[in-house]
Amino acid sequence: MDRIVTALAYDKKVRVFIALSTNTVNEAIRLHRLNLMSAMALGRLLTVTAIMSYMTQSESIAVQVSSEGPMKGVLAISDEKGKVKGYVTNNDYTTYGENITSLGQLLMPGKLMISRDFGLKEPYTGITRLITGEIAEDIARYYMDSEQTPTACALGTYFDDKGKLLSAGGYIIQVLPGTEDRILNEIEQRVSLTGNISKLIYDLETPENLLNFLFSDRNPEITGTHGIAFKCSCSKEKILDKLLTIDKEQLNEVAKQQSTIEAVCPYCNSHYHYHSKDIL
Ligand SMILES: [Zn+2]
Repeated sequence: MDRIVTALAYDKKVRVFIALSTNTVNEAIRLHRLNLMSAMALGRLLTVTAIMSYMTQSESIAVQVSSEGPMKGVLAISDEKGKVKGYVTNNDYTTYGENITSLGQLLMPGKLMISRDFGLKEPYTGITRLITGEIAEDIARYYMDSEQTPTACALGTYFDDKGKLLSAGGYIIQVLPGTEDRILNEIEQRVSLTGNISKLIYDLETPENLLNFLFSDRNPEITGTHGIAFKCSCSKEKILDKLLTIDKEQLNEVAKQQSTIEAVCPYCNSHYHYHSKDIL
């Protein structure tokens, strides 16, 4: 079952968030008919956005990659209960050749933007330039740059030979301010020894096992287990309301010319059909 486990280690000096998100990412692949690289990108972003929703306890959080590369962008949004949704802007980059093997090739150069809504008037927004386009490193850099918090992040999607997703997940590890360099160095060393995170999540199967793998000798203490699922709250009425607020004039023009209008929810790819008389 998909979940995020929150924990403390090193006598409460280190915060650990570990996600297992296989079903969530599989649902995104199914709804958006994602190819392999898009599934990697959106899978990683959905996973880390759900983690960050629990880290920041914001009402909603949006993590967006905007890119000048072939994929053009990736967006994920999570509510405070780990309900995530999102999309890649361009899922078809076959014209760019067969030699694409990393997300960096599809997303660099680009920017990472994080908006957190705490129910106040203006959401808090932070922007940073992508370092590698592999997403995990970019998230870690974002925390260092914007909050001066040393952060380790790893995100993975593990596929079989036929391109079927076997597992997805990841972690964020943060040290509290004033933590000794000795601990920082040790965490860095342990994280670097984990190797390929995608395979590790598949082998270890659960967030709890991954926590123990990393910190079993450093007083790990689970503080919570939270749900995570791909879920969009769109409806025929909501999508129509949105259409009407965006460009009523243009919509009227189209409605005059055709008897039905189709609209697609970008987050979950649901198709809705309207009679033109409902719009005019
Ligand atoms: Zn939707």
